[in-house]
Amino acid sequence: MSRELFGIVWGMLLSSSRSEGKLLMSRQEELRGIAIALRRGSPYFSDGWNINMLQAFIRDDGCCVYCGKELLKKFGPSFEACGDHLLPKSLYPDLAENVDNLVPACIECNRMKHNYDASEGKGMEIVITERVRRGLIRKSREVIRRKKIEEGRVFQSGKAAFRRAVAQYRQY
Ligand SMILES: [Zn+2]
Repeated sequence: MSRELFGIVWGMLLSSSRSEGKLLMSRQEELRGIAIALRRGSPYFSDGWNINMLQAFIRDDGCCVYCGKELLKKFGPSFEACGDHLLPKSLYPDLAENVDNLVPACIECNRMKHNYDASEGKGMEIVITERVRRGLIRKSREVIRRKKIEEGRVFQSGKAAFRRAVAQYRQY
């Protein structure tokens, strides 16, 4: 490669990596800036909200990524919103604070999903891009849906058993 050509290629490489870096930084920094401002501006978010989780909450529009429930819809006795680790913290502790691995979820979906690993053991090999994230959410959503049906059946049989037991007790 000639000296001139090398100079041109090197210049191109430098400018492309610079602009990509800048683009990536600005998006993340913007989200972080909003999260910090929100935490400072609202007593609700100032306490107990990890700044990474708050960024995920803003990114996903404050809705459970699994069932779509709006997490700030109403005030209830229990804390509706929780931070879920898309790839479980117990299996991937290194991803515990990664914003891309954090998603807002409702208590019910969070409990149903539990330790399900949508990456099937490949969590440390994959890069969680937006497309990958969507895919992991879709798989988890399906698992949660099936589990809700399964637990619903168990609940219904428990309810019937309880009624039978009460009826029998009353016969004595
Ligand atoms: Zn949900």
